[in-house]
Amino acid sequence: MPEIITAKSAGFCFGVQRAVDTVYEEIARGGAIYTYGPIIHNEEVVRDLEEKGVRVIESPQEIDALESGTVIVRSHGVPEKLMNRIESSRAHCVDATCPFVKRIHNTVAAQSAKGDKIVIIGNAGHPEVEGIMGWSLTPATVIETREEAAAFNEKTQRTLCVVAQTTFNQNKFQELVDILKQKGYNITVVNTICNATRERQEEAKRIAAVADVMIVIGGKHSSNSAKLYEICRRECERTFFIQTRDDLHLSLTGEEKVIGITAGASTPKNIIEEVQAYVRTDI
Ligand code: SF4
Repeated sequence: MPEIITAKSAGFCFGVQRAVDTVYEEIARGGAIYTYGPIIHNEEVVRDLEEKGVRVIESPQEIDALESGTVIVRSHGVPEKLMNRIESSRAHCVDATCPFVKRIHNTVAAQSAKGDKIVIIGNAGHPEVEGIMGWSLTPATVIETREEAAAFNEKTQRTLCVVAQTTFNQNKFQELVDILKQKGYNITVVNTICNATRERQEEAKRIAAVADVMIVIGGKHSSNSAKLYEICRRECERTFFIQTRDDLHLSLTGEEKVIGITAGASTPKNIIEEVQAYVRTDI
């Protein structure tokens, strides 16, 4: 009978839990509730909220059209202009931006005001990165790959203030920072990778290294879950990336000694428990 090891860090992190709790608290208070973008990258949770009357809005125009209600800003945060637009709308604004992301907004705002050039190491186009960009007073640059770091060639005397998307891979961040350093810029590095991500990635790697089968549970669009999969796949060839128990089709050989389970920051506890129970009965 294989041993099943579930990562302690699997599932909601502090910031996501806080944002989800905020939505349920607002539902209990009553009135029309909107989230700016899905509150988390998890279809099950978003569906449950929809059934409870929570609507997802996606554009500033939709905010302007609201007559009343509450707009909740999710843990990823939003650009400053958008935050102002929500706050000055007819709807009430509840800011559930994760405090760790808020700290990056504050750093970026302060350092760009001092004249630093802001460089964000992260996935361009990710809502968190777009939010961070929107707090810089001057145009920020997003760097995601070695090639982009190598091609960065801004002629400036200004200090580069380098921050990271909270879910970025630690080693890759260091690698990209080193490439920028070699170019002779004056650099201030603020490593804003969140501990929750780091711990989750390290624990996943440790478990995958000893597992015969590794299961990563996460939303299709969740970048931190995709990264977990990438990390686990490197350690364990038989790594499965699933959204819910229904996606899981383990064909065990009977030789497996360890089955590992981890989950991205947007995976609710009940889904993790369902997968655990399923794996146990499947053995
Ligand atoms: Fe906040 Fe970290 Fe969770 Fe991002 S991963 S929401 S920064 S606790």
